[in-house]
Amino acid sequence: MTAPADAHTRRDIAPVICYPNDSLPSPQAALDRGAGPLMSVATIIVPPRDAAAIRVPAGHVLRIHCPEGPQVGDLNLFNAHDLSERFYSGKTRALHGSHVTTGDQLWSCFPFLRPIATITGDTLSWYGRDAFGGSVHDVIGTRCDPYTARLLGGENYHYCCHSNLTRALADATGLSLVQAEGHVHDVLNVFMCTGFTHDTGQYFMKASPVRAGDYLDLLAEIDLLAVMSACPGGDCSAQHSSDTATCHPLAMEVLKPQGAAPWQEPPLNPYNRSHGY
Ligand SMILES: [Zn+2]
Repeated sequence: MTAPADAHTRRDIAPVICYPNDSLPSPQAALDRGAGPLMSVATIIVPPRDAAAIRVPAGHVLRIHCPEGPQVGDLNLFNAHDLSERFYSGKTRALHGSHVTTGDQLWSCFPFLRPIATITGDTLSWYGRDAFGGSVHDVIGTRCDPYTARLLGGENYHYCCHSNLTRALADATGLSLVQAEGHVHDVLNVFMCTGFTHDTGQYFMKASPVRAGDYLDLLAEIDLLAVMSACPGGDCSAQHSSDTATCHPLAMEVLKPQGAAPWQEPPLNPYNRSHGY
């Protein structure tokens, strides 16, 4: 279409932030707790091209380690007592931005919409945003999955993050694969470096800056079931949904704050759910 005479004027209107987030609950109590002395109480290894699950009591820290070499993790978070309360990637993105780091909170789905985890430590916080518009730990991507792989002309590939998460959730809960699959949701892309291209707006990935020894700390605001896949894309520098990329393990460690007061879970969202009816 031909641009209207006032096209420049329309384009030059300054944007406004959709959701000013300065009235959100303060993450300070979580940050203070996560910075205190911590004692390791459990660790699970996430094998390459597979997933694992671990329970994290409220007030404990979940430390996601990159122990050996550059590797991306796809993380699902659930209320450990009610799988219908789960991480809501889209609203976390709307509230905090496309990528998250220390001080940002991870929110649960409707009708709960409360912080279920707070990021209290991030050894990649130095990365910021690069010249391509890329940054680390995105809440843009969904998860690699066998359906999209087939849609784009690939073979049946069973070790995509979606399938890895499905198997691990089924193992952790006793649900069938079909039941578990329905609970798997859009992820936090831990250590993944992504953005949107400036020209076409397409989702891109690039080699993660993560190195052995890096970690991301999440303080569990409620009792959590954390399920994470070590993506078959490895450091996501080239491709995923195949066995081509070099992959490394990840680890999830539960750390208990020492000498800290009992943790208060955040309240459920106060909306009355009448929907005006
Ligand atoms: Zn993946």
